[in-house]
Amino acid sequence: MSERATRHDLEGMHFIAGRWRRDGERLPVDDPGTGEPIGEVHLADGSIVDAAVRAADACHRARSLTGPRPRARLELMFRIAAEIRDLAERGAEILCRESGKPLSSARAEFDEAARYFEYYGGVADKIEGRSIPLGDGYVDWTVREPFGVSAHIVPWNFPVSIAARSLAAALATGNCVVMKSPELAPLGMTMLAEACQRAGAPEGSVNLVCGLGHVAGAALVEHPLTSHIVFTGSVPTGRAILRAAADRVVPSVMELGGKSAAIVYDDADLDVVVASVKSGIFFNAGQVCSAMARVLVHESIAGELAERTRELAEGLSAGHGMDDPDLTPLISGTQRDRVEAMCEAGLRDGARAITGGARIDRPGYFWQPTVFTGVRPEMRVAKDEIFGPVVSLMPFRDTEEALAIANGTEYGLVAGVFTRDLDRAMHAAGRLEAGQVFVNEWFAGGIETPFGGMRRSGYGREKGLEALDNYVQTKNIAVRLGSGRLG
Ligand code: NAD
Repeated sequence: MSERATRHDLEGMHFIAGRWRRDGERLPVDDPGTGEPIGEVHLADGSIVDAAVRAADACHRARSLTGPRPRARLELMFRIAAEIRDLAERGAEILCRESGKPLSSARAEFDEAARYFEYYGGVADKIEGRSIPLGDGYVDWTVREPFGVSAHIVPWNFPVSIAARSLAAALATGNCVVMKSPELAPLGMTMLAEACQRAGAPEGSVNLVCGLGHVAGAALVEHPLTSHIVFTGSVPTGRAILRAAADRVVPSVMELGGKSAAIVYDDADLDVVVASVKSGIFFNAGQVCSAMARVLVHESIAGELAERTRELAEGLSAGHGMDDPDLTPLISGTQRDRVEAMCEAGLRDGARAITGGARIDRPGYFWQPTVFTGVRPEMRVAKDEIFGPVVSLMPFRDTEEALAIANGTEYGLVAGVFTRDLDRAMHAAGRLEAGQVFVNEWFAGGIETPFGGMRRSGYGREKGLEALDNYVQTKNIAVRLGSGRLG
């Protein structure tokens, strides 16, 4: 580890009520590119989570965020953005090493995190209600109030940017936050808490607990003072959290998994398609909720695209994230076993791996970029989320068939259409059952564009102005005039 990272950065501490705490047992944090430990994380138990939630609740009740003029919140958010940028180089190296991702991607995460604070900081003084005419004798208006204690449970694949997107939206709307970091990549996220501390966030407005999902995460969502939940992660964990939320009727945003499909028509620019396949499924070793897991290709160009995809996969450089290669490792040995089991199921079901389908023989948890052809919609590789660098190519004859396959899984996170024919693109975009549709560029959009799932991919939206609706509750105030005498 370079000199930029300090011991303190590698210790995974909790941040509660404005102070760093070392409580709880410790778990090693491994570098997936080597399999070697690089640091440790403290594991919160119920009492530590309780302290964090109480700190957030006290801050909310003291109106530390909502009492001062909204401009103060705007200024705080811009200061946090500046501090994130200041910490970015140190943080990016830690994030790269703990998550395995390319260094450039880790840097981009910190940049995106800062952007969330600038973007939502800009609206922190514009959270407005409206007045509702009720005729003479009444005045009526609405106020958009925060929920209070907003609990954010964060996954390991983009921990810094995912934590920042919900933290920034929550603070902009005046909520106090307790974040739980992912146990596999908890260290980079501590930089967000550090940035908030350095920027002078009120004590208790931003809290971080590190720990295991079924212990710290469960204690956080079950806590009686938690009044709002934002969860990003898998469908089974989302279901467990929703059960806990249902008991206390706590509103929740669910950003869950996906099995997203691109439809590639015969007139598509294949250079554009191949570039999108590269970022869509091989970036971050395919550990992206909105990965391009399925490519539905018109039968007339299926062979050509399969060949181009095979060439792409075989030309990718694999290596440690610090060397910024095309292909980086999976997050853990467990995740690699999972990807391996899914690929074996694909082969058993009759799919053909035209390249890949095996471990890469080097330290760390690498998996070869894998391209399956001959995939049918009922196969597991076509239905279940793999979360690895594995793409399934599936031919189609006409639009109806393509849409049926694309919409034929339980998920509905994102989808894509590749064609030069705008009418065709609009027709398909209107019928794809997904929260976001990319036309001619996978991942088109940005922090400004609403993101979230349909069906099992979840509900509620993050990113964009739309997200703010999830962080406020409307209060209506109706006044009957006339109890004072006129003239
Ligand atoms: P996961 O569900 O295993 O864990 C996510 C988080 O939930 C972790 O912080 C974990 O500690 C916590 N957790 C686990 N059990 C819990 C419980 N009982 N109560 C409370 N918290 C608990 O998911 P993961 O493996 O970290 O991430 C991969 C999954 O996340 C994939 O399915 C992926 O598609 C999804 N994901 C979705 C998005 C999105 O925005 N839609 C983004 C990234 C990842």
